[in-house]
Amino acid sequence: MTDKTTSAFGEVEVTRVHEWSDHLFSRPELLPDSGREEWEAEKGWLEPVFWSAESEDAWLGSQSVLVRSGGTSLVDTGIGNGKPRPGVPPFDHLDTGYLTNLAALGVRPEDVDLVVCTHLHPDRIGWNTVLEGAEWRPTFPNAVHLLPKADFDLLSGMAKSGDAPDPLGYVSTFLDSVAPVVEHAKTQLWDGDEHVIDDAVRLVAVPGHSPGAAAVTISSGGDRALLAGDLVHHPMQILDPKQRNALDADAAARSRIRMLGWAAEHSAPVFGGHFHGGRGARISAAGGGFRIDSWTTV
Ligand SMILES: [Zn+2]
Repeated sequence: MTDKTTSAFGEVEVTRVHEWSDHLFSRPELLPDSGREEWEAEKGWLEPVFWSAESEDAWLGSQSVLVRSGGTSLVDTGIGNGKPRPGVPPFDHLDTGYLTNLAALGVRPEDVDLVVCTHLHPDRIGWNTVLEGAEWRPTFPNAVHLLPKADFDLLSGMAKSGDAPDPLGYVSTFLDSVAPVVEHAKTQLWDGDEHVIDDAVRLVAVPGHSPGAAAVTISSGGDRALLAGDLVHHPMQILDPKQRNALDADAAARSRIRMLGWAAEHSAPVFGGHFHGGRGARISAAGGGFRIDSWTTV
C-alpha cells in the first residue's frame, strides 16, 4: 500500500510512509484501564478504523513520518524487514514494502538527512538497518540518527550486563538496529527538555512510555502539528489521557496531558505514531480530558 497524502504546515511538508497495520492487541490488552462501555459510547467513529467491537481488536499501524523542512527527515523507522522478534510474533521476520513506499514518495535511502527515533522500542528503530550478507548495516547511510540518550543509556547498559529480563527483546533489537548505526553511520544523542532540529521542527521530551520518549512539534507560518510518537497509542487516550498503555509509567499521563494541552491550544492535529491510516486528530479541551473535533490525514 502506498500513501501519497501530503499535508503542509507552513513551509513544512509532512507525509506518512506506510509500513504495516494489524490488530496487535485487544482493547483490554492495549489500554487496561479503559472500560468497554466507554468504547461503546464512541463506536460511531471508532469502527471500523480504530476498533472492532465484535472481536475487541484495537487496530494499530506502524509507519514513519517523512518531514521535509529544508532537509529530508524520517520520524521513526518502524519494525523493519527480516528481524528476529520472537517476543512479538507479528513483528517476527516481517516482510513489507516499506522502502518501495518511501521510493514512491521520491525518497531514496541515501536522500535521508536525518532519522529521528522518538524512542528506542522495537517498532521505532527497525528500518535503521537492513541485512547485508550476515550483517545489519545502516539503511540510510548519509543520515544523522538522532536518538534519546536516556533510552540509549538504559539499553546499552542492559546489553552490557547481559542478565536483565527482556521479554520483548529490547536488547536484541538495540543490538541489530541501533548498535550498527553507532558503528557505521552518524548518530547524535540528545537529552534535556527539548532539542531544536530547525526553525520549524523540534523534539520535546515526553517521558513515561520510555525514559527518553519524545514527541515532535512542527511550527511554521502559524500552523502547528504534533507528531506524538507513543505519547498517545490510541485516540481513546485523547478523550481520557489518564488511560495508560501497559508499558507506560505514571509520568506518561502527565506528559500526555501537557502535550495534548499544547495541541488543543494551538489547533495542532495530533498524529499518534500508531494511529491507523496516518490520521491526526484536531482536539479541544473538554472536562478532564479532550474532545476530538475533526480528523485530518498525512
Ligand atoms: Zn513504544
